[in-house]
Amino acid sequence: MILVDFECSFCAVIFEESVDSAIKFGKCPECGNIANRIYTMNSGHRADPAWLESAVEVLQGDGERPIESRSEFNDYLKKNNIVQRC
Ligand SMILES: [Zn+2]
Repeated sequence: MILVDFECSFCAVIFEESVDSAIKFGKCPECGNIANRIYTMNSGHRADPAWLESAVEVLQGDGERPIESRSEFNDYLKKNNIVQRC
């Protein structure tokens, strides 16, 4: 079990919950709607491909090898001179 942040897809309330690390959705404590898990770069957990997908979609061109981990992502940023916010 790990502590993760969720954001309600309906009322935008953000809350923390202790859940299994594979869990992607929670239940909003305010309105009971589905809340999406929030993935952050600063998370101490192993990079989860879920947060990479959108970033990679924006950055990578067709035919490039898919980025599958945080270290590959960092290397990719360096290689392409993309400034990373820390
Ligand atoms: Zn809600």
